[in-house]
Amino acid sequence: MSRYRGPKCKVCRRENEKLFLKGERCYSQKCAFERRSYPPGEHGYGSQYRRSRQSDFSRQLRAKQKARRIYDVSERQFRRYYQIALKQRGLTGFNLLQLLEMRLDNAVYRLGYAASRPQARMLVAHGHFDVNTRRTDVPSMTLSPGDEITVRETSKKRTFFKGLKKEAENRTPAEWVNRNLDNLSGKVVRLPDRSEISGSLDEQLIVEYYSR
Ligand code: SF4
Repeated sequence: MSRYRGPKCKVCRRENEKLFLKGERCYSQKCAFERRSYPPGEHGYGSQYRRSRQSDFSRQLRAKQKARRIYDVSERQFRRYYQIALKQRGLTGFNLLQLLEMRLDNAVYRLGYAASRPQARMLVAHGHFDVNTRRTDVPSMTLSPGDEITVRETSKKRTFFKGLKKEAENRTPAEWVNRNLDNLSGKVVRLPDRSEISGSLDEQLIVEYYSR
């Protein structure tokens, strides 16, 4: 199963939660979830009122799918993250979330240099960032504490990046990164705590899904 490339708002409606995949639009009246907060599809409307007990498997599957869609990761890659998390010391679920947070595209989003994770992914894939002074275009690159992310000098001449400082000023960066708006850069200072990762993610259910 590859990465989902369909309408992003349908994903929010499916997961019955705003996942903030479209930047500014998510905070406006145009948000599809605000207007139609029921699952997409022919049988979606009214299904939130129907009494149906969710099975354990269904809850586990939805928890896994939500995490996958928030971070925009394919099933194959997500499973690989799980295998890595399993081998690490500590709690597997938390390790998994940390691995997802330490992706380069997520760090760019957390620094406030993109309005959403999908936009961050696109900016990285188009090669606008250096990591430790080396150009990279791999959104899935796993960062470590100490890594520095900088908008490339050539990219700074582009209209989008000329206005980025002003836009980023309105976005609060995560506490595990240090941001330098003057030269559009940032540094990973430490691994994120659980409280700094989306609280609506249930890592325990994800672990249960993969340990069936
Ligand atoms: Fe989700 Fe944003 Fe679309 Fe609203 S506008 S449904 S939060 S992606």
